[in-house]
Amino acid sequence: MARIVMKFGGTSMAGIERIRIVAARLKREWEAGNEVAVVVSAMAGETDRLVNFCREASALYDRAEYDVVVASGEQVTSGLLAIALQAIGVPARSWLGWQLPVRTDDAHASARIGGIDTDALNASLAAGNVAVIPGFQGMTDAGRVTTLGRGGSDTSAVAVAAAMKADRCDIYTDVDGVYTTDPRIVPRARKLRRVTYEEMLELASVGAKVLQTRSVGLAMKENVRVQVLSSFVDATDDPEPGTLIVGEEEIDDVERQLITGIAHDKNEAKVTLTAVPDRPGAVGSIFDPLAEANINVDMIVQNIAHEAGSTDVTFTVPNAELARALDVLEKGKERIGYGALRHDTRVAKVTIVGVGMRSHAGVAATMFKTLGERGINIQAITTSEIKVSVLIEEDYTELAVRVLHTAYGLDAPEAITA
Ligand code: ASP
Ligand code: MG
Repeated sequence: MARIVMKFGGTSMAGIERIRIVAARLKREWEAGNEVAVVVSAMAGETDRLVNFCREASALYDRAEYDVVVASGEQVTSGLLAIALQAIGVPARSWLGWQLPVRTDDAHASARIGGIDTDALNASLAAGNVAVIPGFQGMTDAGRVTTLGRGGSDTSAVAVAAAMKADRCDIYTDVDGVYTTDPRIVPRARKLRRVTYEEMLELASVGAKVLQTRSVGLAMKENVRVQVLSSFVDATDDPEPGTLIVGEEEIDDVERQLITGIAHDKNEAKVTLTAVPDRPGAVGSIFDPLAEANINVDMIVQNIAHEAGSTDVTFTVPNAELARALDVLEKGKERIGYGALRHDTRVAKVTIVGVGMRSHAGVAATMFKTLGERGINIQAITTSEIKVSVLIEEDYTELAVRVLHTAYGLDAPEAITA
């Protein structure tokens, strides 16, 4: 017997027919004698619909009430799945976020989970019931409904798995695993059988959309074995049909590549301040107010002083935060004392990730050379121990991903056809 958490995304929950398929799959695990908790998303498209209602009701909607509205999508699917399970003879009940409860802070619309009470849940599982838990939702200490940020049901699943001390957390989604890169760009992308928490964290945060970034951080912290699987491919004989996200010690040296994956993100905007005074405190005067306004700055480049005592500073922010960033900087023009403020949204960030680069020199050099040979200009660079990101012109994104995939030997012999 094992304790398993299974999570199903919006496409798996989109309509009663699909919910029945999920119920049948859960029944197999339950009949095998396992303790099963299932975490569900809202039906595909439903959360967007609910978010739009809030925006329509008022541009400056109250985030606490937004949470009340958007959490409802998961309430519907959890109830429906419990009904579908009961209909095929599986005892099941739903546990809403406030009923367990899933305790969160009060950062409405992007709340963080503090802990999950499991006493009632454990008793119910021990009695042979399947527990159906709506993802994405929680409750503050004051008893108000919260949600965890878009894509947050992945994080719910990992948190439930950690609290239940589950043997595994299987995330069923519309792709069958994590790939070396987006297969729509590179048909020769390969599915990774295993990837480390750290690599997955980097890949998720730089644009690989398979899992919510927070869920990966939590899995790493709590040591939850996460497996990403397709909900549309039925069980195979393969003991590792999807991608397993595990600690580094569980990855064989033989299967380890220098680079594990390549991600891209077109949701970045570049901001440049020219003629910033080259003196201590100048850079702080730019980034302090941005931080105060909760604007996420990513890549930063400060050129060396060219003309007398001044320098250019370039950085990136998410597209969605560009307008606010420009506003903050315009208001601070006098205090910062820059020349001109420029911005460009036609940029993309391309990132190579791999724990293998820790022990190898020349990984970044290969990246720069490969892009240079194709005439792709690099506008900014950032690195960490296991990743290198470059900012390039957006039109070159697909080309850059393709040539890098080949350069690092990631191309599979056969293209993906399905
Ligand atoms: N339904 C929520 C969303 O679309 C949470 C999730 O599906 O993970 O963001
Ligand atoms: Mg998702």
